[in-house]
Amino acid sequence: MRTEVVKTEVLCIGAGIAGLMAGIRASELGAKVVIIDKAGNPMRSGCSGLGNDHFQCYIPEVHGANIEEHIDEFQHSQQGSLRSKVFIRTWLENSFDILKLWDEWGIPMKHKGEWEFAGHALPGKLLTHLHYAGMDQKKVLMAQAEKRGTRIMGRLMGYELLRDGQGHISGAATLHDLVSDLLEAAVFDHPDESTVQIE
Ligand SMILES: Cc1cc2nc3c(=O)[nH]c(=O)nc-3n(C[C@H](O)[C@H](O)[C@H](O)COP(=O)(O)OP(=O)(O)OC[C@H]3O[C@@H](n4cnc5c(N)ncnc54)[C@H](O)[C@@H]3O)c2cc1C
Repeated sequence: MRTEVVKTEVLCIGAGIAGLMAGIRASELGAKVVIIDKAGNPMRSGCSGLGNDHFQCYIPEVHGANIEEHIDEFQHSQQGSLRSKVFIRTWLENSFDILKLWDEWGIPMKHKGEWEFAGHALPGKLLTHLHYAGMDQKKVLMAQAEKRGTRIMGRLMGYELLRDGQGHISGAATLHDLVSDLLEAAVFDHPDESTVQIE
């Protein structure tokens, strides 16, 4: 069995929007980051691989200074009913900063030159979904991750978390999809690495 140990301080399993954004943030905070994805081409993997076209968000200059109506609308939507009010508030309070960041990075959030709110709302209801051109958003996010020194590795399926002697998660064992063999083990840069067991 061929194995390779990749040392990293942060390992993101999955190069979807969540993994990429987590990797980008961890890199910005100074961590050495590896992102793995089971897909051969992570640029088109996951739910947003072919692009997204709407972003549920709160923009004060569009929606006004009162966020409460917005939170209420989200909470009573199909998606909101599954989420806590704290989650919804945190999401909406931070959404404008994220979409400005994405726009700056090159995802056309203002694809018509201004914020466009259309669809994803019943007639007469508050328009909460920004319509944007997110066909290549993963390409942009991957470029931003790599720009910050993050290593993105495809064809690696994370199948087991590794633990140190104290039971803390210290890494993950992964399988390469082409050779069906344990090819790589990504290990966090743990102070007591010698306790990590790879079998
Ligand atoms: C067709 C479609 C259209 C959508 N449109 C919108 C929209 O317009 N607006 C919106 O807000 N939301 C939309 N969504 C939902 C949105 O795309 C998802 O909520 C979001 O992309 C989820 O991101 P994620 O990173 O959490 O997960 P995912 O995108 O699922 O990414 C997970 C990644 O992890 C990888 N992976 C999984 N398990 C492993 C493993 N064990 N080892 C290694 N890699 C692994 C997968 O290959 C994948 O790349 C849409 C979804 C779909 C399917």
